[in-house]
Amino acid sequence: METREYKNLIGGEFVASSTGKTFERRNPADQRDLVGVFQDSGADDVHAAVAAAKAAYPAWKKVPAPRRGEILLKAAELLQARKERYSRDLTREMGKPLFEAGGDIVEAIGMAQYAGSEGRRMHGVTTPSELPNKFQMSMRQPIGVVGMITPWNFPMAIASWKMLPALVCGNTVVIKPGEDASVSTFNLVECLVEAGLPPGVVNIVTGYGPSAGQPLVEHPDVPVVSFTGSTEVGRLVYELGARQIKRVSLEMGGKNPLIVMDDADLDLVLQGVVWAAFGTTGQRCTATSRLIVHRAVASTLVERIVERAQGLRVGNGLHPDTEMGPLVNGEQLERVLSYIEVGKGEGATLRCGGNRLTGGDYDHGFFVQPTVFTGVTPEMRIAREEIFGPVLSVIEVGSLDEALAVANDVAYGLSSSIYTRDINAAYRAMHELEAGIVYINAPTIGAEIHLPFGGVKATGNGHREAGPTMLDVFSEWKSVYVDYSGSLQRAQIDNVE
Ligand code: NAD
Repeated sequence: METREYKNLIGGEFVASSTGKTFERRNPADQRDLVGVFQDSGADDVHAAVAAAKAAYPAWKKVPAPRRGEILLKAAELLQARKERYSRDLTREMGKPLFEAGGDIVEAIGMAQYAGSEGRRMHGVTTPSELPNKFQMSMRQPIGVVGMITPWNFPMAIASWKMLPALVCGNTVVIKPGEDASVSTFNLVECLVEAGLPPGVVNIVTGYGPSAGQPLVEHPDVPVVSFTGSTEVGRLVYELGARQIKRVSLEMGGKNPLIVMDDADLDLVLQGVVWAAFGTTGQRCTATSRLIVHRAVASTLVERIVERAQGLRVGNGLHPDTEMGPLVNGEQLERVLSYIEVGKGEGATLRCGGNRLTGGDYDHGFFVQPTVFTGVTPEMRIAREEIFGPVLSVIEVGSLDEALAVANDVAYGLSSSIYTRDINAAYRAMHELEAGIVYINAPTIGAEIHLPFGGVKATGNGHREAGPTMLDVFSEWKSVYVDYSGSLQRAQIDNVE
């Protein structure tokens, strides 16, 4: 298979990093497959990329928003035409099966269409004035250079959620993709450039977090930082940004609950749980990691989940019949295996899985068995901490009140779900679950890009990606008052009787 050396994209040119160092990325399903060689960039590379983005900004912000949107719409067509190739690249770099990789690309296509068409809306507000002969309105303005730091788990989709709204608003971009999956960012930007994006409007600097991410967060010419990743790194990014009063948008970890009440349709639950707990090898920020199930149906349901989990076809995502791919790297494998030990040590019952898969092709990758723990109590670490792997913790409860209390009793608040046929229970959950996303009779994964996406508590800091909210991080409101009375008219605060 093809191996390419990827250089940083700075000011429209592909350039080697100033450090002279590179790093390799190998397929997590097969370490013999070298996916690409990337620049191990440092602060000087980041500074050059920010300078290029700053230089490109004045001209780009003057391009009318509908014209900017047209470039995105054209990019959507190119992505569509290359979907198959890009899906293979994505599977090779981070491991998810081809059909899921296709979903990553489709999400970027949807976002390109959605953000592209926003170029013809970008609505502001006009209101009547309280004074005669006076007009007033508000409008969105771009902010400048946006620094973007992304994870590896949705390498094309997450880059698109950030980049495309930022671009349609008129900002320029420097992106530092996750070091385990940088190819998909190059593929996305390739389409934008071919669609007509001018040089310097998007710049890519690859490398590791502390050496290539942190200088981007700290650069004084980057007023906005958009980050998706772990809560631990997000907290650091927030602290660094605060020192310069930057606008920092954070999308971080999750510990997503799926509640099953005793009146739920268990056939539906079964499909949803297996998909949401083991899809993407549990490495979705919205993955179901806690099954909070009513005691009356727990043993029947668990029995069926275990049977399905044991039957999942685990393997290289490039094989068409693979249902679950590998973990992203050796470190993540160690982390998941160590959490499995923690679960056993805490007294939870290992119902299935729990081991690394070995023998034959498995020996070349980072494969772990789909794992289910029962007898989990809410205070156990496997019920509270983000594992980011195919490990499901089953917690039994006796009522809706208890289910909601357990669901909310964690630091995170990204996605959540309830299966019930009782409309009152569904509405209560909808209101009371502490999460940015609630699903009724559907699993915790499956967000659509035209609704706001993000979480509460330790998952986010109040911003939302996608949906009508997607422009908020990347634009500044300006209010404009036009007084055409020809005289000094005093408004509100200066006009007190
Ligand atoms: P991570 O926090 O390890 O890395 C994320 C990015 O931050 C990477 O590009 C990394 O290089 C960079 N980084 C690391 N140290 C840095 C530093 N000191 N300064 C600046 N940048 C730095 O996360 P990950 O392992 O890539 O991704 C998994 C995590 O992402 C999980 O916690 C998951 O829940 C979260 N996630 C959240 C969402 C969401 O929308 N809420 C979506 C996907 C993933």
